[in-house]
Amino acid sequence: MLVVGSANADLVVPVDRRPAGGETVLGGDTVLSPGGKGANTAVAAGRLGADVALLGAVGDDPYGRLLRESLAGAGVGTQHLRTVDRPTGIAYITLTPDGENSILVSPGANSAVQPADLTDDALDGVRVLVTSLEVPLSTVERAVLRAREKGVPALLNLSPAAELSADMLAAVDVLLVNEHEAGYLLGASDADPRELLGLGPRSAVVTRGAAGAVVVEADKSTTVESPRVEAVDTTGAGDAFAGALAASLADGAGLVEAAERAVRVAAVSVTRHGAQPSYPTAGELE
Ligand code: ATP
Repeated sequence: MLVVGSANADLVVPVDRRPAGGETVLGGDTVLSPGGKGANTAVAAGRLGADVALLGAVGDDPYGRLLRESLAGAGVGTQHLRTVDRPTGIAYITLTPDGENSILVSPGANSAVQPADLTDDALDGVRVLVTSLEVPLSTVERAVLRAREKGVPALLNLSPAAELSADMLAAVDVLLVNEHEAGYLLGASDADPRELLGLGPRSAVVTRGAAGAVVVEADKSTTVESPRVEAVDTTGAGDAFAGALAASLADGAGLVEAAERAVRVAAVSVTRHGAQPSYPTAGELE
């Protein structure tokens, strides 16, 4: 599979509460770990044994090297990962005791991931394309439309939420959103997930935190329950889900079966700290 997306250094600060505007709050020690939606998704899939590469960009700095090490450690191909003359993207994350995070992203090198990076051969032999929106929308659009032309199924993780063209949505095979993103797309937080198919994608998956996920296909909609776990850090749970879902689809699984595995992978990820460091291997999952 090919992931077109971001790579960020996550700087996580534990806090009792988040500062309001104009306020200073003292937090705990900063923890640095490799993150970014694209890199997270690729690492989650790589840990599970998938054949996966990341198309993206990092800077020529220690954070860029940290990301390359993490990707290599998970067996993720970096032949499409450029080193550019911008700082590596950074996510500033505050983490409260309930495991909830809030995130500010400085995209840096991720802004340099351009449509032209998606060369003609980038999709050769690829079974699933996965993309998300921390890189320029024009690049994501090109990736999805190229995948459609080449007959490669495209999974779009609509995160962070953004407005998409009808052409692009119609080229998506699996639209992956959390409940907030689904609400954004449908204009109402309590809208029926089945309405997502009216926007153009062939299928949709809505993740619902501890409640698992709902899989919407043309002829049915299926609730997939999550295992019950004690969450300590949900950072990157959605990306763990995306990577595991895509890895199973690339292996030939159906969408519901893929989502059943993805909730198990994401549930493990929330019981450990960090994004990439929290993702299980296939062996750990058994
Ligand atoms: P994040 O932004 O934290 O990466 P998200 O908002 O994109 O996540 P969620 O729906 O919150 O998406 O979580 C994605 C998946 O992670 C869920 O479908 C579920 O499988 C798993 N998950 C998240 N929180 C929990 C939890 N508390 N317990 C078990 N599984 C969880």
